[in-house]
Amino acid sequence: MTVFEPPRLEKLDSQPEVQRLLKNLLDHPGVQTFLWVGPEGSGKKTYALALVRSLFCREGPDCPGCATCKQVLNRTHPDFFWLQRQEGKGEITVEATREVDRKLSNAPFSAPVKVAVVSEADRMNPDAQNAFLKTLEEPPAKSLVLLLAEKAGNFLPTVLSRCRLVRFPALPDAVIEKALRESHGWDKAEAQKAAQEAGGNLALALKFGDENWMAFREKVGRDWDRALQGSDEDWMLLVNEYDQWEPEFLGDAELTATQRKAEVLKAAFQVYLGLWSRRLWGGAEVPPKLASLRAEAVLKCLQKHQDMIPLYLNAKMILDHLFLELREGFWRGELIDRSFMELSAQI
Ligand SMILES: [Zn+2]
Repeated sequence: MTVFEPPRLEKLDSQPEVQRLLKNLLDHPGVQTFLWVGPEGSGKKTYALALVRSLFCREGPDCPGCATCKQVLNRTHPDFFWLQRQEGKGEITVEATREVDRKLSNAPFSAPVKVAVVSEADRMNPDAQNAFLKTLEEPPAKSLVLLLAEKAGNFLPTVLSRCRLVRFPALPDAVIEKALRESHGWDKAEAQKAAQEAGGNLALALKFGDENWMAFREKVGRDWDRALQGSDEDWMLLVNEYDQWEPEFLGDAELTATQRKAEVLKAAFQVYLGLWSRRLWGGAEVPPKLASLRAEAVLKCLQKHQDMIPLYLNAKMILDHLFLELREGFWRGELIDRSFMELSAQI
């Protein structure tokens, strides 16, 4: 699968509200600090790269990719800084944000403004956020700062109050289908199916073109359904397997052991949530033995446990907890929303 290179901002159309807001920025590229918040796959990175291309490139909206655009896409342009978590680190540290401060403080080299993008900015630890406050409050002349995050909840109130908030809603199915067909060359039937199952997440929809991902998807649905209907021993085996599992779709991505576990768990939740969403609207069958579970309650329970992944990074603990809650619901005929502490005591 080729990596998607976003066009200039003028050519994007998946987030019309965001587009309107940013067009103004192209005409008046003054000092600004933004916080872009939206779910994974809603287009934040795409829009960030497209915006920087439009700000820096002098060739006009139809530029097929000049030297400047290539530097932006490769993130090697001297006036563009892309900050993300370092290899093996769970958070963005104060040293990393100081580096951005330093880079922003010099005058732009060739572009009209310097741009810093902080990807997964909600992973900045409180020290890093505090160190970044001065830059957010009084950004250096000719600079633009974009913080990208899935949720606004992890930021210090002082950071939130200094940024202009832009929301990226999950993408409608029709927008995902169009992007798959027009930017990635998928045929209509493939694009439609992937869009329906992706729940507004373009990054997830794109995985439907990867046979390793499809094999993973099939196995997770089968395993989790079976474990829910089986004995205690069955689910203990499954939890142990998933704690050690290195599925093919991970490829040779340079991740630490802990990050790999988190990736596998995150992906497995994505798959099982997708399956139960389809069950909710009748797009997939519920095995007769699981018919006593209400799909809405299962989805809520899965969502709650998925949200624990970045906090606990412990596959065994999260899965143990999930299965206890789901299986208890399965036997009783209803799900009870237990606190993490309450159930942890039983594990
Ligand atoms: Zn260009």
